[in-house]
This record gives sequence, C-alpha cells and structure tokens, in this order.
Amino acid sequence: MLLAQNTKQTETNMSEQEDIGTREIRINPIVPTESVLIATARSMRPQKAEDAAPRDTRKHVERCPFCRGNEDKTPPEITRVPENGDWAIRIVENLYPVLGDDRQSPNMIFGLQQAINGYGRHEVIVDHSQHGIAIHEMSQAHLSMLFQTYQSRMKELYNADKRLKYVLIFKNFGPAAGASMAHTHSQIIATPVIPQNVQDEVEHSKNYYEKNHHCIFCTLVDEALTYEATIYDRDSGKIVRKIDVGQYVIERGEHFIAIKPFASRYEWEIHILPLVHKSDFIKATPEELDDFARVLKRTMQRLDSVIGGAQYNYFLHTIPLDAQYDDCQNSYHWHLEICPRTSIPSGFELGSGLFVNTVSPEDAAIQLSNVVLDEE
Ligand SMILES: [Zn+2]
Ligand SMILES: [Zn+2]
Ligand SMILES: [Zn+2]
Repeated sequence: MLLAQNTKQTETNMSEQEDIGTREIRINPIVPTESVLIATARSMRPQKAEDAAPRDTRKHVERCPFCRGNEDKTPPEITRVPENGDWAIRIVENLYPVLGDDRQSPNMIFGLQQAINGYGRHEVIVDHSQHGIAIHEMSQAHLSMLFQTYQSRMKELYNADKRLKYVLIFKNFGPAAGASMAHTHSQIIATPVIPQNVQDEVEHSKNYYEKNHHCIFCTLVDEALTYEATIYDRDSGKIVRKIDVGQYVIERGEHFIAIKPFASRYEWEIHILPLVHKSDFIKATPEELDDFARVLKRTMQRLDSVIGGAQYNYFLHTIPLDAQYDDCQNSYHWHLEICPRTSIPSGFELGSGLFVNTVSPEDAAIQLSNVVLDEE
C-alpha cells in the first residue's frame, strides 16, 4: 500500500506540473453504454454550483413539520418506529407527490409515443427526529433500524399493489443535492415501471452472466480485493509484508464492502455492496443490516473528513420484484450508490451524456481510505 501510494503521488505531482492530468474515457463495466471522462487538469474543473446554501445543522426547529412535537403538521402518517413512545423514524405521505395514487390503468399508448400515467406511491421517511443530523452522526443502531424500516416498507408496498414493479428508495441530503426540506429525510417512489438505471444494470449484468457464468458485481468486488502489494526486505530479499487490500476499497465490514468505482461518474462517488452475492435487499437479515449500517457510517465519516459537509444523493438498487426478473437472481447484486454533489453538471455533460469527473478515482480512493477512524 505504501509503495503504491508513493508511486501514485509522484504521478500526480508530475501531471500537475504539466497541467494535463489524467485524461481518459472509462466505460462503466456494468452498463457499458455509460461512460465517464476522467479529466483532472485544472481547466476541466467545473465552476462550483452557486454557493449552495450551507447545510442546516440545527437539532430542533420550532416550525419544521418533521421535528418532534409537530407531528400534526405533516401529511398523514403511514407508520412510525417504534410504534409506542418517542418515535425515531416516521413515514408520511408526500405533500407534493410526483406520482398519484389513483386507480387508472397504468398504460397509455399513442401511436409510437408511449406514456405511462403518473400512477404510483410517493412517500417521505423522516430518517431521524433530530433536524439536521447527518448520516455519519447517527448511531449504528439507528442506521440499522432505518434500513430495516426501508425494507419493511418496500415489502408492504409490493404486497399491497401488484401493479408496482419497483420501489426506489433514495435520499437527497443538502440543498446542492436537491433536498427541498432541511430536515433529514429519504423518499420512497413506487412505480409501475422499472427505473431505466436499474433496468440497464439488470440487463447488462444478465448478459455478462450468460457469457461468463459469474456475477459482474462479484467480479468487481473480487478485483477490488485482490490487488496485492508485496514489500521485500532490501538486504535479504525476504518478504516483509504482503498487503492484499485493493486500492479501490474504502471500507470493509463482515458482510459489506464500500468501493470507489473505477468509472465513477461523480468525484466522490462510492458504492456499498454485499461481499457475498445477494440480489435482493429485502432479504438482508437484521444482522447483515447491522454490518451495513457500520460500513455506511464509517464510509460517510471518511467522506465528511475528506470533503467536509458532503451534500449527496444515495440510491438503493435491488432486484425488481417481478417474476420476469427471477432469472436475474444470480446475475444482479444489490447495492447502495452514494453520489456526493460537488459541482453542477456542465452543458457538455448534459449535451453529451458523458459524465466528467475531475478527480481520479484512484486518488479519491487513497484520500478516503487514508482517513483514520476510531474503532467503535
Ligand atoms: Zn426538523
Ligand atoms: Zn454478485
Ligand atoms: Zn446501481
């Protein structure tokens, strides 16, 4: 690791002098139709989004409908955890749903142009009773409970309405990530269609499986883990130390791993995946989710330490619960994508569909994994 880091740093210094930096197009190994331009030269660094309003870190806000004591000011409550006593997590209906819970047929076709009406469910999860608390500040036990709450609500929604094909859970944290409410929250959007991103991942990973008889996500985890550095003694030539932690590994738990994707779209993007093949988030056990919570908390601590006050989106990607996808159980691998927002997309990105990342994923991985955290 030390050797590898030094080499890397020298490369970085040299490239900074020349001000060319890394310039390469990387193909997303999971969805090859998606690519990213890694361009670290200063000229490529986009202007920062107009200074995003600083994150609201207050513990309690008298007029916030999501703060404890204001329960009567939210849209109708769906559930709360725990059911009795002070709540830790609440699920409420979305005041401004992007989808409506009507009873119309979900398909409308006009010639070649297809539309699906905005049928579905849109709910808000109040992640914590403390107004401005960040994920890395929540306890592991709370995070574990939060992900168990995601799980049980997904199950309920799938069971309640067979027309729903996908339940997407995501979080926007901070104004730069599009959070309209300052109080920490996640959102659930259940739709009669599978989101394109998930569909692409499911299909491409299935193609890969058919060719290689192996899950591509597992392959990436293996690759991340098998990078080896051997340190030899200069005099005797004996092996002093072997290090087998891959350069893309940010954090590793008993059941989960956080990795820096090789073709990261966002400068500080990180994915968390089960170490052993698992396609379905809904089937994760409480024990697994507890380890997941630990890996997530530590990953977010690293992120906070490197970029400070990260504003981000995270998305939970899991196998769609539809018989049509039963044969993807071996090829699809659930994961959480964490996408910190440090710049606004440029016209080039929007027009080309090519993401531009100005921090090399290798450098970002070194910075993130070098953060020294306290053992809990
Ligand atoms: Zn609040
Ligand atoms: Zn897998
Ligand atoms: Zn994904």
